Amino acid sequence: MLGAVVGDIVGSRFEHVNARTRDFELFTDACHFTDDTVHTLAVCRALVRCGFTRENLARETVRQLSELSEAYSRLSYGARFNLWRLQEEKLPYASCGNGAAMRVSGCALAARTLEEALALSDIVTGVTHSHPDGLRGARAVTETIFLARRGVDLSEVRRRIHENYYPMDFTLEDIRGDYCRGLRLNTCANSVPQALQCFFEAHSLEDAVRNAVSIGGDSDTLAAIAGSAAAAAFGIPAEIAQQAANYLDARLGSILEQFEAALGGER
Ligand SMILES: [Mg+2]
Repeated sequence: MLGAVVGDIVGSRFEHVNARTRDFELFTDACHFTDDTVHTLAVCRALVRCGFTRENLARETVRQLSELSEAYSRLSYGARFNLWRLQEEKLPYASCGNGAAMRVSGCALAARTLEEALALSDIVTGVTHSHPDGLRGARAVTETIFLARRGVDLSEVRRRIHENYYPMDFTLEDIRGDYCRGLRLNTCANSVPQALQCFFEAHSLEDAVRNAVSIGGDSDTLAAIAGSAAAAAFGIPAEIAQQAANYLDARLGSILEQFEAALGGER
């Protein structure tokens, strides 16, 4: 989950001005956390409040997404999410946007079984991104993180994503250059498989995040997704964790700490 935060912060300065290179400074004064970090931590806080169970998780996810996006209302959110958070009765709006995939990593870490991880993913996603493609994107990221964290061979993880979710029949080299042409880049279908490939071709968290920035598109979200998977497989170097944490304020830092404390050493 901190991997998503790292990716979001590193990718933040490239969201509107793509870098399309792997050669850049990871952390600069232009970096900042965005909606990807806020929503990832909102899901984590909801999971903690529900004791990592499904009970009340949908209601708590709605509450945390609302509260934190209100607290950070100066950030840029999706247009439909903005309408949703202002409604009295917050109903799912069948989004298939990549917001489903960037915020879900906590579910993979909180669950003890893959089945449970996917059930948690469906609940936290379904409160907004109830479109089948939204649920699919979140599930694909959850499954990748869950398996990678347990040391499943990454070629096997990639094979399972290919069989169950998206055709993983391309390399980054294949899509570099053409990826941004004529695609709606903020959908799960047009960003989750690409972000996961950035992870599958990486050997470290830093490597995955650099890959994500290098293909252009929705850089902070691609890097958040790739980073969340890479952190599960390769861990997070202490120096990178510390640098990312420096961008968070006390409230977000405390949610992060509470989630990690609730996870304990075993998960
Ligand atoms: Mg963002």
